[in-house]
Amino acid sequence: MRTQRQVVDYSLQKRAVLRELLAGRVGTYDVCDASPYLKNAARFHGEPTDRRCPICRSENLTLVHYIYGDELKQSAGQARTLTELPVLAMTLREFQVFVVEVCLGCDWNHLVEQYLLGRDGLTGDNDGISEQDATGAGGAGRRRREAQR
Ligand SMILES: [Zn+2]
Repeated sequence: MRTQRQVVDYSLQKRAVLRELLAGRVGTYDVCDASPYLKNAARFHGEPTDRRCPICRSENLTLVHYIYGDELKQSAGQARTLTELPVLAMTLREFQVFVVEVCLGCDWNHLVEQYLLGRDGLTGDNDGISEQDATGAGGAGRRRREAQR
């Protein structure tokens, strides 16, 4: 996505968990603990993948995108479909996305990555939105940053 930034990749942590599991230091009950909420989010807002679950190897993983940020108000912490994210990214200045992979077969779940989306990530010269059209949000952000000094 065009405004995606500050990406944090959690694949190392995931591999560490899988290693612990293979070594028998943690059990599948410890890592296959998807909550009913997470599983519902996966069913209704999830993004199917063609990657097999690393635990049961019988189901494909589903990616769930959770959004967080002050601008989201009551929507903060909710799951969104992948197609809804670019729309939000053009509406809001900045929000955080957490991507969780879930297996609906065995309840395996793990944080995959997190990143920021939102208009603040636009460089300004790559589409029809001019500085003026940005409703002064950039100015407000500058003022806020100055106030924090
Ligand atoms: Zn599984």
